[in-house]
Amino acid sequence: MPLALYDTWSRAIRPFTPLQTSHVGLYCCGPTVYDHAHIGNLRTYVFEDVLRRVLALNGYEVRHVVNITDVGHLASDADEGEDKMEKGSRRTGESAWEVAARYTAAFKGDWHALNLLEPTVWCRATDHIAEQIAFIAAIEQAAFMYITSDGVYFDTSRQDNYGFLARLDREGLQGGKRVALGDKRHVTDFALWKFSPRDAKRQMEWDSPWGRGFPGWHIECSAMSARYLGPWFDIHCGGEDHIAVHHSNEIAQTQAAHGTRLANFWMHGHFLMLDQDRMSKSGGGFLRLQTLIERGIDPLAYRYLCLTAHYRSKLRFSWDALDGAQVALDRLRRVYAEWLRDEDVSPGLTANGAADERYLARFSAEVDQDLNLPRALAVLWELVRSDLPAAVKRATVDRFDTVLGLRPAHQRDAASEIPAEVAALAERRRSARIAKQWAQADHLRDALAALGWRVEDDPKGQRIVPMEEQRDSQ
Ligand code: AMP
Ligand code: ZN
Repeated sequence: MPLALYDTWSRAIRPFTPLQTSHVGLYCCGPTVYDHAHIGNLRTYVFEDVLRRVLALNGYEVRHVVNITDVGHLASDADEGEDKMEKGSRRTGESAWEVAARYTAAFKGDWHALNLLEPTVWCRATDHIAEQIAFIAAIEQAAFMYITSDGVYFDTSRQDNYGFLARLDREGLQGGKRVALGDKRHVTDFALWKFSPRDAKRQMEWDSPWGRGFPGWHIECSAMSARYLGPWFDIHCGGEDHIAVHHSNEIAQTQAAHGTRLANFWMHGHFLMLDQDRMSKSGGGFLRLQTLIERGIDPLAYRYLCLTAHYRSKLRFSWDALDGAQVALDRLRRVYAEWLRDEDVSPGLTANGAADERYLARFSAEVDQDLNLPRALAVLWELVRSDLPAAVKRATVDRFDTVLGLRPAHQRDAASEIPAEVAALAERRRSARIAKQWAQADHLRDALAALGWRVEDDPKGQRIVPMEEQRDSQ
């Protein structure tokens, strides 16, 4: 079955055929680096990483471009309010440049902890000011913009199909919404370039043919995707919140300058939810990957949790669900280690057995159907339970892991020194506690004690310690 992907533009799952034979161009909107990424943002990058890996599984060479927004993203999508970078600078007391450098480094740390593949190109908005100015000049040439007292604006009324990606009701928006237009002519018009305020010095500003200032947020993605992938490429991704404004505006700009709608496929990851709301930086209650790590959770358990929900459905975060993902990941690693022992080969050596073609075909069919990872995980667990030889299971899981990215061969801490039966009992106790089966959990604690192992519960989770070690350390 060929690879088929859901395209937001056509609101349908379509067969994927690359535009060029040499590579697949993939552009993903990256972080605005004024604060840490939260695990909601990271859910979107996990979806995009899986997409990239599935494209590779289908034999495509992927040219993956991710931008870093380090200027121009204003506090409101209506092009008003403060630049988020300058706001970050006031919050931390560092310069906007230092804020950008610090949070970019932190973001890349999260990126690698989640085993996301390195993009072919990372590109920063502030490194591409010339490209953005040239792009705005092309829009000016095509007469799609006007200048006001505070900036240069895109005239959305000149495009009949403006907002098609979001199925925007422009008439309804114009008539129904009372919004402060400022000098803008239409509600949906947006800034291409903003002038620096006359009374205050900005930290980040540049000269342009229209006046000193800084680029609007959307122009960086049109300009940098054109630079690295050309103005018509295969797939453009982001979170679902980007459909109505950011991506609609990227399309408007590229259509004005180059006559294309940028990408053949538009794909959007749905939100990670915290209680009833989407997790957001401005909403306050957001969680960082580091917070999970401090609670003893492996970052790849969060990756596993993301894989348990289809990328086009909302995922409601809960600690119980995350604990469940950790239990599943630990179990996968334990059985993998057992297979290795049974095979009597060291980690790193290739498995003696070849992968099972039937399971591989079933796994591919699931991921090729618009990245159905929950069903692909079900195939994985069916394989684990099957009676195939250990070497075949291991070789097959290695192939699955080119998409899953869960590193099953990786062992946490000294867990591998814990005897398998002790680890299994501890695992059952952990699951019992998650299920709030307290009597069962106590029973398993006693069983562990009988084998000479003691369980310690701390905020980071459960630790298994040999009883001798306890005596020694007292
Ligand atoms: P930002 O750093 O705010 O520009 O967002 C980075 C990426 O995370 C974008 O693709 C957003 O669409 C996405 N995003 C923001 N909030 C969430 C959320 N709660 N769940 C999933 N993705 C999100
Ligand atoms: Zn973008």
